[in-house]
Amino acid sequence: MGEKIEAVDPATGEKVRSFEVATDLQVEKAFSKSRGAFDCWKDLSIDKRCEYLERLRKIIVERKDELVETIRLDTGKPDVEALMSDVFATLSMIRYYEENAENILETEKRKTPSEYPKNSSYVDYIPMGVVAVISPWNYPFQLSVVPSITALVAGNTVILKPSEITPITGEKIMELFSKAGFPEGVFQVLQGGGRVGQQMIEEKPDKIFFTGGVETGKKVMENASKYLIPVELELGGNDAMIVFEEADLERAVKGAVYGSLANAGQLCVSIERIYVQNSIEEEFTRELIEEVKKIDIGTGRDVEMGPMILEKQIETVKDHVNDALEKGADLLTEIKKEGSFLHPIILNNVSHDMKMIKEETFGPTIPIVPFESEDEAVELANATSYGLNASVWTDDISKAKEIVSRLETGNCYINDVVKNIGSPHLPFGGVKNSGIGRYHGPEGLKSFTETRSVMINKNKGTELNWFPYDNDLYVDIGDLIEAKHGDVGLLKKVKTFFRLWRKM
Ligand code: NAD
Repeated sequence: MGEKIEAVDPATGEKVRSFEVATDLQVEKAFSKSRGAFDCWKDLSIDKRCEYLERLRKIIVERKDELVETIRLDTGKPDVEALMSDVFATLSMIRYYEENAENILETEKRKTPSEYPKNSSYVDYIPMGVVAVISPWNYPFQLSVVPSITALVAGNTVILKPSEITPITGEKIMELFSKAGFPEGVFQVLQGGGRVGQQMIEEKPDKIFFTGGVETGKKVMENASKYLIPVELELGGNDAMIVFEEADLERAVKGAVYGSLANAGQLCVSIERIYVQNSIEEEFTRELIEEVKKIDIGTGRDVEMGPMILEKQIETVKDHVNDALEKGADLLTEIKKEGSFLHPIILNNVSHDMKMIKEETFGPTIPIVPFESEDEAVELANATSYGLNASVWTDDISKAKEIVSRLETGNCYINDVVKNIGSPHLPFGGVKNSGIGRYHGPEGLKSFTETRSVMINKNKGTELNWFPYDNDLYVDIGDLIEAKHGDVGLLKKVKTFFRLWRKM
Protein backbone atom coordinates (compact mmCIF):
# COMPACT_ATOMS: atom_id res chain seq x y z
CA MET A 1 0.00 0.00 0.00
CA GLY A 2 1.40 3.37 -1.03
CA GLU A 3 1.35 6.55 1.00
CA LYS A 4 -2.02 8.36 1.05
CA ILE A 5 -3.32 11.83 1.75
CA GLU A 6 -6.82 12.43 3.07
CA ALA A 7 -9.05 15.17 1.72
CA VAL A 8 -10.94 16.55 4.71
CA ASP A 9 -13.89 18.94 4.44
CA PRO A 10 -12.81 21.73 6.83
CA ALA A 11 -16.43 22.75 7.42
CA THR A 12 -17.39 19.36 8.89
CA GLY A 13 -14.06 17.75 9.68
CA GLU A 14 -15.21 14.71 7.70
CA LYS A 15 -12.86 12.76 5.48
CA VAL A 16 -14.08 13.09 1.91
CA ARG A 17 -11.65 10.96 -0.05
CA SER A 18 -8.11 9.68 0.01
CA PHE A 19 -5.53 10.10 -2.69
CA GLU A 20 -2.43 8.12 -3.57
CA VAL A 21 0.74 10.14 -3.06
CA ALA A 22 3.06 10.09 -6.07
CA THR A 23 6.01 7.74 -5.60
CA ASP A 24 9.58 8.74 -6.46
CA LEU A 25 9.28 6.61 -9.59
CA GLN A 26 6.07 8.39 -10.64
CA VAL A 27 7.77 11.75 -10.10
CA GLU A 28 10.69 10.62 -12.25
CA LYS A 29 8.37 9.35 -14.99
CA ALA A 30 6.34 12.57 -14.96
CA PHE A 31 9.51 14.59 -15.54
CA SER A 32 10.66 12.36 -18.35
CA LYS A 33 7.22 12.67 -19.99
CA SER A 34 7.28 16.43 -19.50
CA ARG A 35 10.71 16.75 -21.13
CA GLY A 36 9.49 14.69 -24.07
CA ALA A 37 6.38 16.86 -24.46
CA PHE A 38 8.47 20.05 -24.25
CA ASP A 39 10.16 19.28 -27.58
CA CYS A 40 6.88 19.76 -29.48
CA TRP A 41 5.13 22.28 -27.20
CA LYS A 42 7.99 24.80 -27.34
CA ASP A 43 7.78 24.85 -31.15
CA LEU A 44 4.08 25.71 -31.26
CA SER A 45 3.33 29.33 -32.08
CA ILE A 46 1.99 31.44 -29.21
CA ASP A 47 -1.22 31.73 -31.17
CA LYS A 48 -1.58 27.96 -31.22
CA ARG A 49 -0.82 27.69 -27.48
CA CYS A 50 -3.50 30.31 -26.87
CA GLU A 51 -6.03 28.11 -28.67
CA TYR A 52 -5.57 25.57 -25.87
CA LEU A 53 -5.98 28.35 -23.30
CA GLU A 54 -9.15 29.51 -25.01
CA ARG A 55 -10.59 25.98 -24.82
CA LEU A 56 -9.62 25.79 -21.14
CA ARG A 57 -11.28 29.16 -20.48
CA LYS A 58 -14.52 28.06 -22.11
CA ILE A 59 -14.60 24.83 -20.11
CA ILE A 60 -13.99 26.71 -16.86
CA VAL A 61 -16.81 29.14 -17.66
CA GLU A 62 -19.15 26.26 -18.49
CA ARG A 63 -18.26 24.34 -15.33
CA LYS A 64 -17.87 27.24 -12.93
CA ASP A 65 -20.52 26.06 -10.47
CA GLU A 66 -19.07 22.56 -10.36
CA LEU A 67 -15.66 24.12 -9.71
CA VAL A 68 -17.04 26.18 -6.83
CA GLU A 69 -18.37 22.97 -5.28
CA THR A 70 -15.00 21.28 -5.66
CA ILE A 71 -13.17 24.21 -4.07
CA ARG A 72 -15.75 24.29 -1.27
CA LEU A 73 -15.14 20.62 -0.49
CA ASP A 74 -11.41 21.25 -0.13
CA THR A 75 -11.52 24.59 1.68
CA GLY A 76 -15.05 25.23 2.97
CA LYS A 77 -14.76 28.80 1.68
CA PRO A 78 -17.93 30.76 0.82
CA ASP A 79 -19.19 30.17 -2.73
CA VAL A 80 -18.76 33.84 -3.70
CA GLU A 81 -15.13 33.75 -2.55
CA ALA A 82 -14.43 30.64 -4.66
CA LEU A 83 -16.25 32.00 -7.71
CA MET A 84 -14.75 35.48 -7.54
CA SER A 85 -11.21 34.92 -6.32
CA ASP A 86 -10.43 31.44 -7.59
CA VAL A 87 -12.50 31.10 -10.77
CA PHE A 88 -13.01 34.66 -12.04
CA ALA A 89 -9.45 35.78 -11.27
CA THR A 90 -8.08 32.78 -13.18
CA LEU A 91 -10.31 33.44 -16.19
CA SER A 92 -9.15 37.08 -16.33
CA MET A 93 -5.56 35.90 -16.43
CA ILE A 94 -6.26 33.39 -19.23
CA ARG A 95 -8.02 36.05 -21.27
CA TYR A 96 -5.13 38.46 -20.70
CA TYR A 97 -2.66 35.98 -22.19
CA GLU A 98 -4.94 35.20 -25.11
CA GLU A 99 -4.99 38.91 -25.91
CA ASN A 100 -1.44 39.95 -24.99
CA ALA A 101 1.01 37.03 -24.88
CA GLU A 102 2.03 37.29 -28.51
CA ASN A 103 2.82 40.99 -28.15
CA ILE A 104 4.66 40.61 -24.86
CA LEU A 105 6.85 37.77 -26.08
CA GLU A 106 7.59 39.05 -29.56
CA THR A 107 11.19 39.61 -30.60
CA GLU A 108 12.39 43.07 -29.52
CA LYS A 109 14.79 45.14 -31.53
CA ARG A 110 17.39 46.80 -29.29
CA LYS A 111 19.83 49.69 -29.76
CA THR A 112 23.43 48.90 -30.73
CA PRO A 113 26.39 50.98 -29.44
CA SER A 114 27.99 53.36 -31.95
CA GLU A 115 31.35 51.55 -31.68
CA TYR A 116 29.66 48.48 -33.23
CA PRO A 117 28.97 49.91 -36.70
CA LYS A 118 27.12 47.66 -39.17
CA ASN A 119 25.78 45.67 -36.20
CA SER A 120 22.18 45.24 -35.14
CA SER A 121 20.66 43.67 -32.02
CA TYR A 122 17.51 41.97 -30.84
CA VAL A 123 16.16 40.02 -27.89
CA ASP A 124 14.14 36.80 -27.96
CA TYR A 125 12.05 35.36 -25.13
CA ILE A 126 12.46 31.62 -25.27
CA PRO A 127 10.85 28.80 -23.28
CA MET A 128 12.81 27.45 -20.32
CA GLY A 129 11.77 23.78 -20.28
CA VAL A 130 9.90 21.96 -17.52
CA VAL A 131 8.41 24.24 -14.87
CA ALA A 132 7.52 22.85 -11.43
CA VAL A 133 4.57 24.70 -9.87
CA ILE A 134 4.15 24.07 -6.14
CA SER A 135 1.02 25.63 -4.72
CA PRO A 136 -0.70 26.33 -1.37
CA TRP A 137 -4.15 25.52 -0.02
CA ASN A 138 -5.75 28.93 0.48
CA TYR A 139 -6.65 29.64 -3.19
CA PRO A 140 -6.06 26.16 -4.55
CA PHE A 141 -7.46 26.85 -8.02
CA GLN A 142 -6.14 30.32 -8.80
CA LEU A 143 -2.69 29.81 -7.30
CA SER A 144 -2.24 26.54 -9.19
CA VAL A 145 -3.75 27.42 -12.56
CA VAL A 146 -2.41 30.97 -13.01
CA PRO A 147 1.31 30.13 -12.73
CA SER A 148 0.69 26.98 -14.78
CA ILE A 149 -0.96 28.75 -17.72
CA THR A 150 1.67 31.50 -17.60
CA ALA A 151 4.42 28.90 -17.91
CA LEU A 152 2.51 27.08 -20.66
CA VAL A 153 1.78 30.10 -22.82
CA ALA A 154 5.49 30.96 -22.66
CA GLY A 155 6.22 27.55 -24.20
CA ASN A 156 7.15 25.50 -21.14
CA THR A 157 5.62 22.25 -19.97
CA VAL A 158 4.32 22.11 -16.41
CA ILE A 159 4.17 19.70 -13.49
CA LEU A 160 1.87 20.99 -10.77
CA LYS A 161 1.93 19.81 -7.20
CA PRO A 162 -1.15 21.12 -5.44
CA SER A 163 -1.17 21.36 -1.67
CA GLU A 164 -1.76 18.06 0.11
CA ILE A 165 -4.60 19.89 1.91
CA THR A 166 -6.52 20.49 -1.34
CA PRO A 167 -6.06 17.40 -3.55
CA ILE A 168 -9.64 17.38 -4.88
CA THR A 169 -9.07 20.73 -6.58
CA GLY A 170 -5.75 19.41 -7.90
CA GLU A 171 -7.48 16.44 -9.46
CA LYS A 172 -10.19 18.67 -10.96
CA ILE A 173 -7.55 20.96 -12.50
CA MET A 174 -5.99 17.94 -14.26
CA GLU A 175 -9.42 16.93 -15.53
CA LEU A 176 -10.04 20.42 -16.98
CA PHE A 177 -6.67 20.55 -18.75
CA SER A 178 -7.25 17.09 -20.23
CA LYS A 179 -10.70 18.13 -21.39
CA ALA A 180 -9.17 21.21 -23.05
CA GLY A 181 -7.03 18.81 -25.09
CA PHE A 182 -3.55 19.81 -23.95
CA PRO A 183 -1.18 17.29 -25.55
CA GLU A 184 -0.08 14.35 -23.41
CA GLY A 185 2.64 15.33 -20.93
CA VAL A 186 2.37 19.10 -21.45
CA PHE A 187 0.53 19.57 -18.15
CA GLN A 188 0.57 17.02 -15.30
CA VAL A 189 -0.46 16.94 -11.67
CA LEU A 190 1.40 15.08 -8.93
CA GLN A 191 -0.39 14.65 -5.62
CA GLY A 192 1.47 14.74 -2.33
CA GLY A 193 3.09 16.88 0.32
CA GLY A 194 6.56 18.20 1.06
CA ARG A 195 8.34 14.97 0.17
CA VAL A 196 6.91 15.00 -3.36
CA GLY A 197 7.77 18.71 -3.67
CA GLN A 198 11.33 17.94 -2.65
CA GLN A 199 11.54 15.02 -5.06
CA MET A 200 10.37 17.28 -7.88
CA ILE A 201 13.34 19.55 -7.19
CA GLU A 202 15.67 16.53 -7.34
CA GLU A 203 14.39 15.95 -10.89
CA LYS A 204 15.97 19.33 -11.79
CA PRO A 205 13.11 21.29 -13.34
CA ASP A 206 14.17 24.29 -15.40
CA LYS A 207 12.25 26.65 -13.13
CA ILE A 208 10.41 26.36 -9.83
CA PHE A 209 7.40 28.54 -9.13
CA PHE A 210 6.59 28.21 -5.45
CA THR A 211 3.74 29.76 -3.47
CA GLY A 212 3.63 29.11 0.26
CA GLY A 213 5.16 29.96 3.60
CA VAL A 214 8.54 31.64 4.17
CA GLU A 215 10.20 28.68 5.89
CA THR A 216 9.17 26.25 3.13
CA GLY A 217 10.23 28.81 0.52
CA LYS A 218 13.72 28.95 2.04
CA LYS A 219 13.97 25.13 1.94
CA VAL A 220 12.88 25.12 -1.70
CA MET A 221 15.49 27.74 -2.55
CA GLU A 222 18.20 25.86 -0.65
CA ASN A 223 17.41 22.59 -2.43
CA ALA A 224 17.16 24.32 -5.80
CA SER A 225 20.54 25.98 -5.26
CA LYS A 226 22.25 22.58 -5.54
CA TYR A 227 21.35 22.56 -9.24
CA LEU A 228 21.18 26.36 -9.77
CA ILE A 229 17.50 26.11 -10.66
CA PRO A 230 15.84 29.53 -11.00
CA VAL A 231 13.26 29.92 -8.25
CA GLU A 232 10.33 32.29 -7.99
CA LEU A 233 8.91 32.57 -4.49
CA GLU A 234 5.48 34.00 -3.65
CA LEU A 235 5.52 33.93 0.14
CA GLY A 236 3.61 35.28 3.09
CA GLY A 237 2.56 38.82 3.89
CA ASN A 238 1.90 41.05 6.87
CA ASP A 239 0.00 43.77 5.07
CA ALA A 240 -0.56 47.16 6.63
CA MET A 241 -3.59 49.36 6.05
CA ILE A 242 -2.93 53.04 6.79
CA VAL A 243 -6.02 55.20 7.34
CA PHE A 244 -5.60 58.98 7.45
CA GLU A 245 -8.10 61.28 9.14
CA GLU A 246 -9.38 62.75 5.84
CA ALA A 247 -10.24 59.31 4.39
CA ASP A 248 -13.85 58.37 3.67
CA LEU A 249 -14.39 56.68 7.05
CA GLU A 250 -17.36 54.51 6.14
CA ARG A 251 -15.60 53.15 3.08
CA ALA A 252 -12.34 52.60 4.98
CA VAL A 253 -14.18 50.64 7.69
CA LYS A 254 -15.91 48.40 5.14
CA GLY A 255 -12.60 47.96 3.28
CA ALA A 256 -10.86 47.04 6.54
CA VAL A 257 -13.47 44.39 7.35
CA TYR A 258 -13.31 42.88 3.86
CA GLY A 259 -9.50 43.06 3.67
CA SER A 260 -9.07 41.43 7.07
CA LEU A 261 -11.76 38.76 6.86
CA ALA A 262 -11.93 37.65 3.20
CA ASN A 263 -11.25 33.91 3.13
CA ALA A 264 -11.31 34.13 6.95
CA GLY A 265 -8.01 35.99 6.76
CA GLN A 266 -6.29 33.09 5.01
CA LEU A 267 -5.11 35.30 2.22
CA CYS A 268 -1.54 36.32 1.46
CA VAL A 269 -2.68 39.93 0.86
CA SER A 270 -4.98 39.97 3.86
CA ILE A 271 -4.90 43.11 6.01
CA GLU A 272 -2.92 42.01 9.06
CA ARG A 273 -2.43 45.41 10.77
CA ILE A 274 -4.55 48.57 10.68
CA TYR A 275 -2.87 51.88 11.45
CA VAL A 276 -5.43 54.60 12.09
CA GLN A 277 -4.68 58.29 12.64
CA ASN A 278 -5.24 59.26 16.30
CA SER A 279 -8.01 61.76 15.64
CA ILE A 280 -10.32 59.12 14.09
CA GLU A 281 -9.22 56.01 15.95
CA GLU A 282 -12.18 55.92 18.34
CA GLU A 283 -14.82 56.45 15.66
CA PHE A 284 -13.10 54.03 13.28
CA THR A 285 -12.93 51.31 15.94
CA ARG A 286 -16.56 51.82 16.99
CA GLU A 287 -17.79 51.55 13.40
CA LEU A 288 -15.51 48.59 12.70
CA ILE A 289 -17.00 46.64 15.61
CA GLU A 290 -20.51 47.35 14.28
CA GLU A 291 -19.55 46.36 10.73
CA VAL A 292 -17.98 43.09 11.86
CA LYS A 293 -21.26 42.14 13.59
CA LYS A 294 -22.86 41.96 10.12
CA ILE A 295 -20.53 39.14 8.99
CA ASP A 296 -22.26 35.80 8.53
CA ILE A 297 -20.20 32.71 9.16
CA GLY A 298 -20.77 29.32 7.56
CA THR A 299 -20.62 27.79 4.11
CA GLY A 300 -22.59 28.36 0.93
CA ARG A 301 -23.86 31.44 -0.90
CA ASP A 302 -25.06 33.80 1.82
CA VAL A 303 -22.04 33.89 4.11
CA GLU A 304 -18.93 36.02 4.16
CA MET A 305 -16.60 33.88 6.24
CA GLY A 306 -15.92 30.15 6.04
CA PRO A 307 -13.91 27.86 8.30
CA MET A 308 -10.20 27.80 8.96
CA ILE A 309 -8.96 25.43 6.28
CA LEU A 310 -6.20 23.92 8.38
CA GLU A 311 -6.35 22.95 12.07
CA LYS A 312 -2.70 24.03 12.47
CA GLN A 313 -3.66 27.54 11.40
CA ILE A 314 -6.19 27.81 14.26
CA GLU A 315 -3.30 27.13 16.65
CA THR A 316 -1.28 29.96 15.09
CA VAL A 317 -4.20 32.37 15.49
CA LYS A 318 -4.68 31.31 19.14
CA ASP A 319 -0.97 31.69 19.82
CA HIS A 320 -0.89 35.20 18.34
CA VAL A 321 -4.03 36.30 20.20
CA ASN A 322 -2.80 34.91 23.54
CA ASP A 323 0.60 36.52 23.04
CA ALA A 324 -1.07 39.88 22.34
CA LEU A 325 -3.36 39.60 25.39
CA GLU A 326 -0.46 38.60 27.66
CA LYS A 327 1.48 41.65 26.46
CA GLY A 328 -1.38 44.04 27.24
CA ALA A 329 -3.67 44.17 24.17
CA ASP A 330 -7.40 44.75 24.71
CA LEU A 331 -9.90 42.37 23.20
CA LEU A 332 -12.86 44.21 21.64
CA THR A 333 -14.81 41.13 20.54
CA GLU A 334 -15.59 37.79 22.07
CA ILE A 335 -13.27 34.89 21.14
CA LYS A 336 -15.57 32.30 19.65
CA LYS A 337 -14.78 29.03 17.89
CA GLU A 338 -17.42 26.66 16.53
CA GLY A 339 -15.74 23.60 15.05
CA SER A 340 -13.19 25.04 12.68
CA PHE A 341 -15.10 28.31 12.30
CA LEU A 342 -13.41 31.22 14.09
CA HIS A 343 -15.31 34.44 14.69
CA PRO A 344 -13.52 37.74 13.92
CA ILE A 345 -11.21 39.00 16.67
CA ILE A 346 -10.66 42.76 17.02
CA LEU A 347 -7.93 44.06 19.32
CA ASN A 348 -6.48 47.42 20.22
CA ASN A 349 -3.62 48.54 22.41
CA VAL A 350 -1.47 46.29 20.30
CA SER A 351 2.22 46.98 19.81
CA HIS A 352 5.12 45.96 17.67
CA ASP A 353 6.55 43.50 20.18
CA MET A 354 3.52 41.24 19.64
CA LYS A 355 3.55 38.26 17.26
CA MET A 356 0.27 39.47 15.75
CA ILE A 357 2.00 42.58 14.45
CA LYS A 358 5.41 41.12 13.67
CA GLU A 359 4.35 37.86 12.02
CA GLU A 360 1.75 36.60 9.55
CA THR A 361 -1.34 35.46 11.52
CA PHE A 362 -3.31 34.22 8.47
CA GLY A 363 -6.62 34.28 10.32
CA PRO A 364 -9.59 36.55 11.12
CA THR A 365 -7.79 38.96 13.46
CA ILE A 366 -8.03 42.76 13.24
CA PRO A 367 -5.43 44.59 15.34
CA ILE A 368 -5.74 48.39 15.42
CA VAL A 369 -2.76 50.68 16.10
CA PRO A 370 -3.06 54.49 16.30
CA PHE A 371 -0.50 56.83 14.72
CA GLU A 372 0.15 60.55 14.91
CA SER A 373 2.08 61.62 11.80
CA GLU A 374 2.78 60.46 8.23
CA ASP A 375 6.35 59.61 9.21
CA GLU A 376 5.18 57.46 12.08
CA ALA A 377 2.68 55.62 9.86
CA VAL A 378 5.39 54.80 7.32
CA GLU A 379 7.82 53.74 10.01
CA LEU A 380 5.28 51.40 11.64
CA ALA A 381 4.12 49.92 8.32
CA ASN A 382 7.72 49.16 7.35
CA ALA A 383 8.60 47.66 10.74
CA THR A 384 8.11 44.06 9.59
CA SER A 385 10.19 41.47 7.81
CA TYR A 386 7.47 41.12 5.14
CA GLY A 387 6.70 43.30 2.12
CA LEU A 388 3.83 41.96 0.02
CA ASN A 389 0.93 44.41 -0.25
CA ALA A 390 -0.21 47.55 1.62
CA SER A 391 -3.04 50.01 1.38
CA VAL A 392 -3.20 53.75 2.00
CA TRP A 393 -6.51 55.51 2.63
CA THR A 394 -6.91 59.25 2.07
CA ASP A 395 -8.77 61.65 -0.23
CA ASP A 396 -5.45 63.27 -1.05
CA ILE A 397 -4.03 61.10 -3.83
CA SER A 398 -0.72 63.04 -4.04
CA LYS A 399 -0.19 62.44 -0.35
CA ALA A 400 -1.09 58.75 -0.79
CA LYS A 401 1.42 58.40 -3.65
CA GLU A 402 4.12 60.02 -1.54
CA ILE A 403 3.39 57.58 1.31
CA VAL A 404 3.36 54.64 -1.12
CA SER A 405 6.77 55.68 -2.47
CA ARG A 406 8.17 55.18 1.04
CA LEU A 407 6.59 51.79 1.75
CA GLU A 408 8.72 48.66 1.53
CA THR A 409 6.27 46.47 -0.40
CA GLY A 410 6.03 44.88 -3.81
CA ASN A 411 2.46 46.08 -4.30
CA CYS A 412 0.23 48.88 -2.97
CA TYR A 413 -3.40 49.86 -3.25
CA ILE A 414 -4.66 53.40 -2.67
CA ASN A 415 -8.17 53.50 -1.17
CA ASP A 416 -8.89 49.78 -1.62
CA VAL A 417 -7.59 46.39 -0.56
CA VAL A 418 -6.75 42.96 -1.95
CA LYS A 419 -8.07 43.11 -5.49
CA ASN A 420 -4.95 44.69 -7.02
CA ILE A 421 -3.62 41.10 -7.01
CA GLY A 422 -6.40 40.27 -9.48
CA SER A 423 -5.33 42.69 -12.20
CA PRO A 424 -3.63 40.68 -14.95
CA HIS A 425 -1.90 43.84 -16.20
CA LEU A 426 0.12 44.45 -13.03
CA PRO A 427 3.17 42.46 -11.96
CA PHE A 428 2.65 40.89 -8.55
CA GLY A 429 5.19 39.75 -5.96
CA GLY A 430 6.85 40.61 -2.70
CA VAL A 431 9.98 42.24 -1.33
CA LYS A 432 11.85 41.27 1.87
CA ASN A 433 10.54 37.95 3.27
CA SER A 434 7.48 38.06 1.00
CA GLY A 435 9.34 36.58 -1.90
CA ILE A 436 11.48 36.81 -4.98
CA GLY A 437 10.27 37.58 -8.48
CA ARG A 438 7.08 38.80 -10.09
CA TYR A 439 4.26 37.09 -11.91
CA HIS A 440 1.23 38.56 -13.71
CA GLY A 441 1.58 41.34 -16.31
CA PRO A 442 4.30 41.50 -18.98
CA GLU A 443 7.08 41.14 -16.37
CA GLY A 444 5.42 38.01 -15.01
CA LEU A 445 5.05 36.34 -18.39
CA LYS A 446 8.66 37.12 -19.31
CA SER A 447 9.80 35.61 -16.01
CA PHE A 448 8.82 32.20 -17.43
CA THR A 449 11.26 32.65 -20.31
CA GLU A 450 14.97 32.87 -20.85
CA THR A 451 16.04 36.12 -22.43
CA ARG A 452 18.31 35.46 -25.37
CA SER A 453 20.16 38.43 -26.82
CA VAL A 454 21.37 38.29 -30.40
CA MET A 455 23.73 40.56 -32.29
CA ILE A 456 24.31 40.48 -36.05
CA ASN A 457 27.49 41.86 -37.60
CA LYS A 458 27.39 42.66 -41.33
CA ASN A 459 30.96 43.93 -41.34
CA LYS A 460 33.53 42.49 -43.76
CA GLY A 461 37.20 41.90 -42.99
CA THR A 462 38.68 42.34 -39.54
CA GLU A 463 37.54 44.14 -36.37
CA LEU A 464 39.26 46.89 -34.39
CA ASN A 465 39.25 44.89 -31.13
CA TRP A 466 40.61 41.64 -32.59
CA PHE A 467 44.21 40.51 -32.16
CA PRO A 468 46.96 41.57 -32.46
CA TYR A 469 47.16 43.87 -29.43
CA ASP A 470 49.77 46.64 -29.78
CA ASN A 471 50.45 50.27 -28.92
CA ASP A 472 48.36 51.56 -31.88
CA LEU A 473 45.31 49.68 -30.59
CA TYR A 474 45.99 51.00 -27.07
CA VAL A 475 45.99 54.58 -28.42
CA ASP A 476 42.83 53.95 -30.49
CA ILE A 477 40.94 52.54 -27.50
CA GLY A 478 42.13 55.48 -25.37
CA ASP A 479 40.84 57.95 -28.00
CA LEU A 480 37.55 56.06 -28.15
CA ILE A 481 37.16 56.27 -24.35
CA GLU A 482 37.82 60.03 -24.46
CA ALA A 483 35.34 60.52 -27.30
CA LYS A 484 32.57 58.40 -25.81
CA HIS A 485 32.85 58.97 -22.09
CA GLY A 486 35.22 61.95 -21.60
CA ASP A 487 34.53 65.65 -21.54
CA VAL A 488 35.65 66.46 -25.12
CA GLY A 489 34.19 68.86 -27.66
CA LEU A 490 31.89 67.74 -30.45
CA LEU A 491 34.49 68.35 -33.18
CA LYS A 492 37.05 66.10 -31.47
CA LYS A 493 34.40 63.42 -30.96
CA VAL A 494 33.41 63.46 -34.63
CA LYS A 495 37.06 63.39 -35.73
CA THR A 496 37.85 60.39 -33.48
CA PHE A 497 34.83 58.43 -34.64
CA PHE A 498 35.51 59.25 -38.25
CA ARG A 499 39.12 58.02 -37.91
CA LEU A 500 38.22 54.87 -35.98
CA TRP A 501 35.07 53.85 -37.84
CA ARG A 502 37.23 52.98 -40.82
CA LYS A 503 39.07 50.49 -38.60
CA MET A 504 35.96 49.08 -36.88
P1 NAD B 1 3.41 25.72 2.81
O1 NAD B 1 4.70 26.43 2.69
O2 NAD B 1 3.16 24.88 3.98
O3 NAD B 1 3.16 24.74 1.54
C1 NAD B 1 3.16 25.23 0.21
C2 NAD B 1 3.45 24.09 -0.73
O4 NAD B 1 4.79 23.63 -0.54
C3 NAD B 1 2.56 22.86 -0.52
O5 NAD B 1 2.19 22.36 -1.78
C4 NAD B 1 3.48 21.89 0.22
O6 NAD B 1 3.16 20.54 0.01
C5 NAD B 1 4.82 22.21 -0.45
N1 NAD B 1 6.01 21.83 0.32
C6 NAD B 1 6.13 21.66 1.65
N2 NAD B 1 7.42 21.34 1.96
C7 NAD B 1 8.11 21.34 0.80
C8 NAD B 1 9.48 21.11 0.45
N3 NAD B 1 10.41 20.83 1.37
N4 NAD B 1 9.84 21.19 -0.85
C9 NAD B 1 8.92 21.50 -1.81
N5 NAD B 1 7.63 21.72 -1.54
C10 NAD B 1 7.22 21.65 -0.26
O7 NAD B 1 2.32 26.85 2.62
P2 NAD B 1 0.75 26.74 2.80
O8 NAD B 1 0.50 26.56 4.26
O9 NAD B 1 0.20 25.76 1.82
O10 NAD B 1 0.29 28.20 2.33
C11 NAD B 1 0.18 29.27 3.20
C12 NAD B 1 1.29 30.26 2.97
O11 NAD B 1 1.34 30.64 1.60
C13 NAD B 1 1.07 31.55 3.72
O12 NAD B 1 2.28 31.99 4.29
C14 NAD B 1 0.64 32.52 2.64
O13 NAD B 1 0.86 33.87 2.93
C15 NAD B 1 1.43 32.05 1.49
N6 NAD B 1 0.83 32.50 0.23
C16 NAD B 1 1.48 33.43 -0.52
C17 NAD B 1 0.90 33.93 -1.69
C18 NAD B 1 1.59 34.96 -2.55
O14 NAD B 1 1.16 35.16 -3.67
N7 NAD B 1 2.63 35.62 -2.08
C19 NAD B 1 -0.36 33.46 -2.07
C20 NAD B 1 -1.00 32.53 -1.24
C21 NAD B 1 -0.40 32.05 -0.11
